[in-house]
Amino acid sequence: MRAGACAVVLLLSVPPAMADPSGRNWLTLPSGYKVYNHTSINGVSDFQNVALPAVRSAFASWTKANVACTKWDSSFLGLFDSPGGRDAINGQDRQNRVIWLGGSDWTLDANTLGLTITTYRTSTLEILDADMEFNDNRVWKVGGPGARLDVQSIVTHEAGHYLGLDHTADPSAIMYASYTVGSIKTVLQAPDINDVCTVYPAPNPAGTQGAICTADSNCVSAAPLCRGPAGSSSALICTRGCSQSSDCPNGYECQPAVPTTGTGMACLAAAADAGAPPTGTLPPSAGQSVPPTSTGGCGCNADGSSSAWPLAVLLFAAMLRVPRLRRASGAGRRSR
Ligand SMILES: [Zn+2]
Repeated sequence: MRAGACAVVLLLSVPPAMADPSGRNWLTLPSGYKVYNHTSINGVSDFQNVALPAVRSAFASWTKANVACTKWDSSFLGLFDSPGGRDAINGQDRQNRVIWLGGSDWTLDANTLGLTITTYRTSTLEILDADMEFNDNRVWKVGGPGARLDVQSIVTHEAGHYLGLDHTADPSAIMYASYTVGSIKTVLQAPDINDVCTVYPAPNPAGTQGAICTADSNCVSAAPLCRGPAGSSSALICTRGCSQSSDCPNGYECQPAVPTTGTGMACLAAAADAGAPPTGTLPPSAGQSVPPTSTGGCGCNADGSSSAWPLAVLLFAAMLRVPRLRRASGAGRRSR
């Protein structure tokens, strides 16, 4: 009951509405991560056989294998032994690491349960590195009852930050900014699914509306025409003819199309969609300088986009917080 009361406090303290996709995203998939080779963590004596599967399930829950409308994918690249402790958290090494840190290695307060730090390119918002740390000064569990922190629940939330999501205002969502100690919250909800599919939409099945094509014969009956916008070199897509935009599926507008047949009009991607997902990669240039890694807590509202550095380290506010979230002042405001 106490946790419930605290959740109310959290609700009042968390900024009421935050954009869910942060705008930052990985351009190369799958994104591989490694997990520290813990023997045990606080509360879980057999890390590899008990906690590790929960970590992997948490990452997997967001992937295309489990969410039909996304192309997001991550892969477990194995365990690592070195570097240990805080040295594992390094935004410049292009190694995405997961580690529990205890004692003085945990530099945030006791009520912060997890933190995901992403390093991204300010020009394209491409995420280049993400490290995930968990508070081993708290007691953990893997499923079941008890007022402990559930590994899979909290890693699932942090994995949402890892892929580029901010918090969601909907209390049912994984990406909601509070966690009730002891609860099991591992199943993605509609806002989570909507967000991951917005940032990483699955390609359209061959022949269906929106799928790339070269001829009508590539397309199925519901979207029988292979057309592109007139006067543009955009790829052709399977679509259908129209006389007005209300004839078209969501996200499409009735536009002049080529090759020209019939009315010359077809349902093509709405202009607003055209510039949405960034494309192409921009790898770091050799010898490029990077800023020192920031550490410590800062809120979800932290924004590295104003940095003059080519790379900015963002503390993503992937901080899970429990009871007595305090309202900090100014830019340092925290949520989980
Ligand atoms: Zn969070």
